[in-house]
Parts: sequence; C-alpha cells; structure tokens
Amino acid sequence: MNKNDSMKIIKSTLLLIVIIFFPSCSGKKDVTIRELENHVIYLASDSLKGRLTGSPGDSLAAEYIRKELTSYGLVPLSGDGFQRFVVTKRIIPGRNNALIVNGRSCEPEKDFMPLAFSADGGLESDVIFAGYGFNINTDSLKWNDYNGIDVKGKWVLILRADPEAENTKSPYIQYSLDRDKALLAKDMGAAGVLLVSGPVADPQDTFEQLNAEGFSVGIPVFRIKRDVADNILARTRTTIELLEKNINKNLKPSAFDAKTTVKANAEIVREIADTRNVVMLLPGEDENLRNEFVIIGAHFDHLGMGGPGSSSRAPDTTGIHHGADDNASGVSMMLELAEKFANTRGSHKRSIVCIAFSGEEEGLLGSKHFTNDPGIDLSKVNAMVNLDMVGRLSDTTMLQVSGVGTAAGLKELVYAKSDTSSIKLNLSEEGYGPSDHSSFYFKNIPVLFYFTGAHLDYHTPSDTWDKINYKGMAAITGEVFNVAEELADSPERLKFREAGPKVEPVRYRRGKGASLGIMPDFAGVIKNGLRADAVTPGKPAALGGMKKGDIITAINGKTVNNIQDYMSRMGQLKHGQTISVEILRNGKKEVLLIQL
Ligand SMILES: [Zn+2]
Ligand SMILES: [Zn+2]
Repeated sequence: MNKNDSMKIIKSTLLLIVIIFFPSCSGKKDVTIRELENHVIYLASDSLKGRLTGSPGDSLAAEYIRKELTSYGLVPLSGDGFQRFVVTKRIIPGRNNALIVNGRSCEPEKDFMPLAFSADGGLESDVIFAGYGFNINTDSLKWNDYNGIDVKGKWVLILRADPEAENTKSPYIQYSLDRDKALLAKDMGAAGVLLVSGPVADPQDTFEQLNAEGFSVGIPVFRIKRDVADNILARTRTTIELLEKNINKNLKPSAFDAKTTVKANAEIVREIADTRNVVMLLPGEDENLRNEFVIIGAHFDHLGMGGPGSSSRAPDTTGIHHGADDNASGVSMMLELAEKFANTRGSHKRSIVCIAFSGEEEGLLGSKHFTNDPGIDLSKVNAMVNLDMVGRLSDTTMLQVSGVGTAAGLKELVYAKSDTSSIKLNLSEEGYGPSDHSSFYFKNIPVLFYFTGAHLDYHTPSDTWDKINYKGMAAITGEVFNVAEELADSPERLKFREAGPKVEPVRYRRGKGASLGIMPDFAGVIKNGLRADAVTPGKPAALGGMKKGDIITAINGKTVNNIQDYMSRMGQLKHGQTISVEILRNGKKEVLLIQL
C-alpha cells in the first residue's frame, strides 16, 4: 500500500464520517421545514414573553436574529448590526396635576386630564370661551373665533370636534384636531387651553387614553368634563350644551369672557424605552451592482402581555401574546431566505439587506426610523420585500401579495415565479398597507408585501407556533426566493410608480377619532352587527378588503351590535393604527386587518 493509496483510504473514510455524522449538511444550506419551525418555536416561546417593543424579550429576539444572520455570513450594514432608537412607551398623567375653578379643587382623571401634547407647568388666569377655536380663512369657508377678543396670557375654553359632528364629509373636519386647536390658541397668545366636548360631539363625555404621538405644544392643555366647564361658565348663565347647540345651528363664531379665574398645573410623564432594528448585509456578487440593494424585511416585535391600551383583540385579559404568525413566521422566512442567498452562488448581483424591524405594532416605528436614517442611498434600492404573517397558508386561503402595482413588471414577475397550481395567489396593486412596506412605499421604493391572511387568533394569546403551516411556509419561501433573486440579479432596476394613496399616517383626523371610510347602515336593519352599505374606494376599509354588505361584528375584539357601539369603538382609535375588524360576509365569519 503506497502513500497515495493510504491517503485515498483516509480521504474516503473521512468522507464516510462526514456522510454518517452530518447527513443533513447540504440541507442546512437550504430552506428546511425543520429550520423554519425552530425559528418560530424560539421567537414565539414563553421565554420571550411576546416580544414587546423595548422589553427584554424584544432584545433577546434581536440577539437571536443577529446571531443567525451572522452565522450565514451576513455582516452588519453598519456598527454592530443594531440600529438603536428610543420609543415612547406610554404617556401618563404625572402626580402634580391640579385644577381649581372658583376656589373648588377638581379631581384629576375624573374631572380633568392633561392631554398628551400639554406642556408641564402652571397658570392662574381668566378664561375666555372661544367657540370651536377655529381660524379658517378659505374661499369657501370663513370662521374666526378669535376675532375681536383678547386671549393674551389667558386660558381659552374650546369645544372639541366641529359643528357638523354627524357629517363625515364636513369641510370643518380638517380643522377639528385637538392639537391643531391648541396650537392655534397658543399662536393667538393664549397661555393655556381647556378643551371640552359638547353632548352632540361626545354624549358619554369620556376621556380617551393619552396616545404616544403627542409632542408638546408649549402651553398647558387640559380636557375637562362638561360639568367642570359649566361651572366655569356659571356667571355667564349658559352651558356647554346650549353653546354647542347654538353654534351648530348658526354656524357662526361665538366668543366671550367667562368671568372666571382658573388655576391649574399640568404634568405629563413620558415612559421611554430603548429598542433596535437588526440590519445586516449580504454584499452583492457583482462589482458594479453591489452598490444597489434589495431589502428583505420582517418585524420581530409583538404585543407582549397585551392588556388595556395594547392592540390586543383580547384586551381584558393579560397573557403572553406569542405572535407566532405575527410575526415570528415572517422573521423565520427572512432568516431562511438570507441563508439560501448566502449559499447560492450567482443569486444576487445586488447586495441584499435583511432588516428585522422593531416597533411595528406601535405604528411602524422601526421601519419609519430606518427609512429616515437608512445609512444607504434609498434611491439605489431596487425593491423592498416585506414578510408579515406568512404562516397560515391553508387549502381555503390564498397567498396575498400586495404592491405589485408599485413598478412595471412586478405583477408579471410574481406570476412567473409562482406555481399557482399549488399556491393560489391574490394580488393587489396598492403600495400602502398595514405593515412596514408602507414606510418604503412612502419613500418611492417599489414594494412587495407577502401575507397569508388574518384569522381569529390574530393579536390574541392563541397565535401559537403549533398552528403554523410550516410546509406552506417552505413553499412560499421558495417562491419569494425566486422573486427576490430576480430583483437582486436583473440588469435593469425597477421604475417606481404610485399605486394607490401615498399616505403618511398622520393628519386628517376628526377630534373624536379615526374613520373607516364606510357608509354605515344608519337604519339599523341588521341586529347584532353593523352593515356597511357603501365602502369608499381608497379609504382604510376598502384598502383592507371590506366589501359592500359586510356586517361588522367586532372591532379589535370588542363587539359591535349597532351604530352606537361602532361610533364608540371608532372613537377610541387613532389614525395610523392597525385594527382587526370581524365581519360576516355571506354568513361566514372573517377577519380583516385595516390600517386607519
Ligand atoms: Zn405584523
Ligand atoms: Zn400585529
């Protein structure tokens, strides 16, 4: 036996050992059902406690994702691969809130409440009633509540909402935001604002939770109950109810000195938390095209323990919201795609950026943060592929792919790369939808959004790993890979085009809440639900898939039996929020996700 032969024996023995001990070696490079499942099991496990943005579970998830991507050969886009940012978790009233009317102390949170955009601080001054607090001067609309009155250094008492609360097309709607009114009052010289709802605008006169969007307007701003406002008006022998009634009837400004002094102090506490996106890069294989990018993204945050104030559909119970489908499934798919790209020679001339977003559930915070501070030239991004809830493919569901209208050729590409005999497709053109791709669409980047549909476990503790269809996920992963490979490899870049409304989720909110864009059945023909008699194209309900004749039975898990229920549920919601709407369509229960 010569040296060569013995080498051969050693080599083949080694090969044998390799084959015996690492039978799945080649499988590890590919997308496997087992790996997809393992990622979901970990991310949706009890130990991560629902991955609430800014919580320890959210940090653990980010560490896991970075470790996995690093092991496939991806490198940080910059720094250590974490793009850190701060989120406001909650705005709550502080301890030093006080309001004294005619020498009588009011009770915080029962009689009055500082608003989220209030400045901290105190003021003792006279009160001027300033109607709806408008200063409108357009060709068709003139209304100035500040005309001829002096509010300098004083409180102004303002009615919330607008004089046409029942009219969804009222020209006053765009002037009805609380914050805009407070800001205008300040511009007019007021030193503090007291907002009150008339009985037409808000029969229950309830205080909404403070929302986390409010940046300070620079002066103290309170909401007060009607009886407190009536007490302020006592010397003028009128009431909020009367004032609202008269102004709504006459559609004219009304302002006067309330002849009362109010002393108050406001304090707002902002609870903030640190979180991060995970942003990792797989450099492109072509010297010229590697400065262009394809982004594959999925959010990893979820609702934590749920509870009041969260977007849980079971808000009255607290429990781990596992978020297996939403969105451990999307993250898992992104990881497997990254691994496959890293292991497939010739698959990506362009660089691939894998981003796991945090803060999605709280208003697309992570993707907004990234698109505002990307660290790469966004005009060089060929497309962004977003994976959010891709784990519930079934015989009766279709794979929904949105955004195919955001560049010419995308629709054809998605069709060409899919096997519609095994996975049925439901394509839609719109670039705007209830997940992180909206942030990229807003920046003129072509987007594709993959989604296997909402279900009754959505945003509840029962969205668990055992309900995921991993075989379906593997099949979808294969199709997404083929599409993304083409996006990463094609010589020509896509040309962005607008497909549907390009809305930044702010503005245009009536003081009392957000709207779906439906015409409800005001007559109440249907009991135990509210029928949509018309659905306005381009508005949230239509974009979320609602159809004329659908009967809304619940919003965010809270029952809707009639128009009053509907109005009060909607009144609790804010613009930009994603809500779940349970409907009956042809007698069948379905769930729609709608972004307001
Ligand atoms: Zn999601
Ligand atoms: Zn969600």
